[in-house]
Parts: sequence; C-alpha cells; structure tokens
Amino acid sequence: MNAESTTNLKEESENCLFCKIVKGQIPADIVSQGDNWLAFRDINPQAPSHILVIPKNHVANVTECNEAAELGSLFQAASGVARDENLDQGFRLVVNTGEHGGQTVFHLHIHILGGRSLTWPPG
Ligand code: 5GP
Ligand code: ZN
Repeated sequence: MNAESTTNLKEESENCLFCKIVKGQIPADIVSQGDNWLAFRDINPQAPSHILVIPKNHVANVTECNEAAELGSLFQAASGVARDENLDQGFRLVVNTGEHGGQTVFHLHIHILGGRSLTWPPG
C-alpha cells in the first residue's frame, strides 16, 4: 500500500460510523467479539435477530478486502454468532455491496438475519 492510499484509508476510518463503534466513540449493543471482529445488533432490525459482524480494521466493502483469511474468519465468526443466537431453524447472511447492493455504511459488514421465515428473492 502506498503512502497516499494509507492516508485515504486513515481519513475514511476517522469518519466511519462503524470504526467509531469499534473505538467505543458511539454506543452499540455488542453481542460478542474476537481479536479482529465485532458483532452488534442492528439499530433498525429487519428480523427478530438482526446482528452485524464487522472487521475491527476499516475495509470499505468486500471488493476492497484482498485477504481471503480475513473474509473467511469473518464468515466463521458470523456462523458462530448465529449459533449462539440459537438460530437453529435457519438464518441468512447478507453482504450488501455498493449502491445497487443497497450498502449504506461503507465499512464491510455481514448482516445476520433470523428468528423468522425469510422470503426470497429479496427486494
Ligand atoms: P447496509 O445498508 O450498509 O448493508 O447496512 C447498514 C446497517 O447499519 C443498516 O441495517 C442500519 O440499520 C445499520 N446502522 C446504521 N447506523 C447504525 C448505528 O449507528 N448503530 C447500529 N447498531 N446500526 C446502524
Ligand atoms: Zn470503518
């Protein structure tokens, strides 16, 4: 990573809502966490269980994440959080990406949605 992209990343991170949650600058209903990830309840839940799992370091979206291991451990974390939430009847993991994907917060996150029967296709 060159000096310019390091500076941009730092600026993005300083203005990022989810980075502020990671740093404890904005309160959140934290469910669990690991060394590199944090799980907290969505402020506007779309299902009885609606949890967001995010990396603790700033990554804008899935296309910006070049680390296969980081993505793998984030999905593994989401699966563990869903298990602990007793979503044994099923759940959905969603990663909205970019404008058409409906992404509104530009810090990578996996939505865990469960606790009700979900329809398909999504809107
Ligand atoms: P996206 O639309 O980017 O996939 O998802 C962003 C999610 O973040 C939305 O479901 C939205 O409700 C949630 N969200 C936005 N602001 C906050 C906040 O301040 N706290 C929490 N816990 N969730 C938030
Ligand atoms: Zn961030």
